[in-house]
Amino acid sequence: MSERRTIAIAGGGIGGLMAAIALARAGLRVSVYERMTRFAPFGAGIQLSPNASRVLLAFGLGQALATASSEPEALVIRRGQDGRELARAPLKDHMKERYGAPYLILHRADLHTILRVAAEKEVDIDVSMGTAVADFARHNNGVTVLTEHDHQLEEHQATALIGADGIRSTVRARMFGSPQPIPADRCAWRALVPADQLPEGFSANVVGLWLGPDAHLVHYPLRGGSVINVVAIVADAWQASLVGEGWNAPGDKDELAGRLSAWSGEIRELIEAIPSVSRWALADRRPMRRWGEGSVTLLGDAAHPMLPFLAQGGGMAIEDAMTLGRCLVRGDHVTASLRKYERLRRPRTARVQREARRLNRIYHFGTTLAVARDAVLGMKTDNKLTDHYRWIYEHES
Ligand SMILES: Cc1cc2nc3c(=O)[nH]c(=O)nc-3n(C[C@H](O)[C@H](O)[C@H](O)COP(=O)(O)OP(=O)(O)OC[C@H]3O[C@@H](n4cnc5c(N)ncnc54)[C@H](O)[C@@H]3O)c2cc1C
Repeated sequence: MSERRTIAIAGGGIGGLMAAIALARAGLRVSVYERMTRFAPFGAGIQLSPNASRVLLAFGLGQALATASSEPEALVIRRGQDGRELARAPLKDHMKERYGAPYLILHRADLHTILRVAAEKEVDIDVSMGTAVADFARHNNGVTVLTEHDHQLEEHQATALIGADGIRSTVRARMFGSPQPIPADRCAWRALVPADQLPEGFSANVVGLWLGPDAHLVHYPLRGGSVINVVAIVADAWQASLVGEGWNAPGDKDELAGRLSAWSGEIRELIEAIPSVSRWALADRRPMRRWGEGSVTLLGDAAHPMLPFLAQGGGMAIEDAMTLGRCLVRGDHVTASLRKYERLRRPRTARVQREARRLNRIYHFGTTLAVARDAVLGMKTDNKLTDHYRWIYEHES
C-alpha cells in the first residue's frame, strides 16, 4: 500500500474503526495502528441511539446490526430504595417513527466485531495490531508517524493523523500536553449476569434505570435475552490507577453489594447473582477549544471524553467519523478539511459533555432533592422524557 495519500489513525476502538470505514468509503487509504495485540472481548453492553444507528445504517451495517442487537421497548426509571416506577418512556416504535432510526442495545464486543469485519472488507484499510503510535512530526507534506511494535520503532508517512486513541490519547498529549483526566469520583461496576439466574423482571426487553442517593444502576438484556448487562455507577474515591487501564479491572461484588445494601431486594438479588464484576473509575475532560494542528486532529474519547450518563460517548465517536469522512474527501485540502471537521463537531460534543455532567448531579441527588426530581420525572409522561433529548437523537451527521 502506497503511504503517500494514506490517513493514519491511532487507535482501533469504535471511533478509530468507524473513522477508517468512513474515510475508505470517501476514497482514501487508511492505516489503523492499534496498540493492543488483539481486540479484547469487552464484557459490557452499549446503547446506540438513533443519531448513531443512523450513521451505521448509512454505511450498510443494518443487516449485521439487526442480527447482533435488539430494540428495547421502553426506558423504565425506578427508585433504587423500593423499586417504585417513577417514569416510563417508549423507545422501540417511538424512536423509529420520530427519528427515522432505531434505538439499539448490543454487546460492545459484537459492535466492535461488526466494525472490524466491515473494515476488513475494505481493500484500502490496513490494520496493524500491537502497534502503538508513539509520536509524530508535522511537516508541509503531511505527517511522519512514529510507531512502536515489539519494541521496534518505525516511521510512516501519512497525509494526516487522526488521534482516536481514547481518553489518555498520546496524540492529544503530543499536541496539547497531558494533564490528567478529571476524576468524577464515581466508579462504574459492570457485569453480565445469566438471565435464568434472575427474577423475571430483569429479562423484560427494556432499559431499566434505578436511581438512588449517590448511585444509579442500569440494566438491559443482551444476545437474545440470554444475559443481562448491568452497570452500577456509584460514588467512589478516585482510583487513578484504574483509569485508562482497560475495561476489566476486577471488582469485588461484596463491596458493590455493601454500597447498595439499602436498595430494594430485587437489586440485592441481582448483585448476588453476578458471577464476576469489573470496575472502571470514571473521568472526563472539559471541552477543548482546539482539537488539532496542521494535518493532525482528534476523534472520539481522545477529543471529548464524557461521563456515561447520556450513553453517548460511542455515539459521538460514530458521528465524528461520519463528519470526518464527509470533510476529508480525496482531493480537498487536508488541513482546511480537518479544521472544518473540528468546527462542525466541537459545539455539539461540548454540549453533550456538559449535559452528561449535569445528569451526573441529578441522577445522584441525595434524599431531599431526589423527592423533587422524582416528582418531575413522574410528570414526564410518554415521549416527553426522550424528546427532551431530541437535539441529540435527530442529528444528521
Ligand atoms: C460505564 C460506561 C458505559 C458506557 N456506555 C455507553 C453507551 O451505552 N453508549 C455509548 O455510545 N457510549 C457509552 N460509553 C462510552 C464509550 O464506551 C466510549 O465513548 C467509546 O468507547 C469511545 O471510543 P473511542 O474509539 O473514542 O475510544 P476507545 O474505546 O478508548 O478506543 C481507543 C483505542 O485506542 C487504542 N490506543 C490507545 N493509545 C494508543 C496508541 N498510542 N496507539 C495506538 N492505539 C492506541 C486503545 O487500545 C483502544 O483500542 C460508556 C462508557 C462507560 C465508561
